[in-house]
Amino acid sequence: MTSTIPTEPIGSIPRPSELLQAVRDHAVGKISLHTLEAAYDLAIEETIRQFEATGSPIITDGEQSKPSFATYPVAGGRNIVESGGLVVTFSDRHVRTFPKLTSGPFRYQQYASDYVKKARGFTSLPLKQAVISASLLSTLYPEKSIHGYSREAFTEDLIQEVAKDISGSLTAGAEVVQVDFTEAPLARKLDPSGKLLKEFVAINNEVFSRLRPGERERVGVHVCKGGDWDSTHSGEVDYAKVIPEVFELRVPRFYFAIAGEADPDRTLKLLADYVEGRRKIFVGVTDPINNEQETPEVVERRVIKAAKLIDLKNLGTTDDCGFAPFGDDTSTTRELAFAKIHARVEGTRRAERKLR
Ligand SMILES: [Zn+2]
Repeated sequence: MTSTIPTEPIGSIPRPSELLQAVRDHAVGKISLHTLEAAYDLAIEETIRQFEATGSPIITDGEQSKPSFATYPVAGGRNIVESGGLVVTFSDRHVRTFPKLTSGPFRYQQYASDYVKKARGFTSLPLKQAVISASLLSTLYPEKSIHGYSREAFTEDLIQEVAKDISGSLTAGAEVVQVDFTEAPLARKLDPSGKLLKEFVAINNEVFSRLRPGERERVGVHVCKGGDWDSTHSGEVDYAKVIPEVFELRVPRFYFAIAGEADPDRTLKLLADYVEGRRKIFVGVTDPINNEQETPEVVERRVIKAAKLIDLKNLGTTDDCGFAPFGDDTSTTRELAFAKIHARVEGTRRAERKLR
């Protein structure tokens, strides 16, 4: 067996304190946009340099200038209010409130391709870009419909914008685009009947059906139970109630958080049922919400275990989640995040040598 086990990050790295200060200073008018942008550039360059040093074959910009994994397309939008949308409660009881649309039409303020273009200037390594799903953004539309802008009209605009976000990122030079679908387990928590999850899968498949030929092979989805301030939003949800629906998604790459599961072996067995063809299942081998640092040996053991159930040609490794998907999360240090990434890369390589 000579195949290489691909290993990919999820996306975010905690922002340096200087950058977080610059964001706060800009919000209160203490520094100019120009100064803030210089702080972003500095953080992106430094993050990419540290990412390269981990040995990771594919890297990200650490989402240093993304306001959050979910809301970057609408941040600053005229027809958006910052709260009033979906409310997500985490296991430590902190809450994240999502924005709401107040009028049509729905248009992105920012496409992820801009992040790719910026990062491209700092590295020659392959880049991965995470984008937000249509399903999460579908929650922006208020319960009470918007006069003159129906939910159907919104959904059509939304599907077009998300497809454009994915295609644009690939065109700008991303090797792989990952659609963040953390709300798959959340949908099961919010609606135990499973109807909401089915709707989420359907809207995301509609987006994938709009991609140009050849694009879909480079697209995947990330599923986790949340990772913010070292806590989850859907930790109690049984993956058995999520995984069958997720594999209805018509993309070939899947990134699952499993290292932090109480029983990762059970999840591996569930995933093994969906191994087929050229599908790649990337299993989480490091846990960003656990402050204990995995060693390469720990990762190696996890990969070898996964390889017992998932054929090597279908197996990849990843981190369970981003290390700071919301811009302000500093619960994990940058040093620990990069140490975990290094362990993932090194542990995957060691396992691969043994499995050959
Ligand atoms: Zn995640």
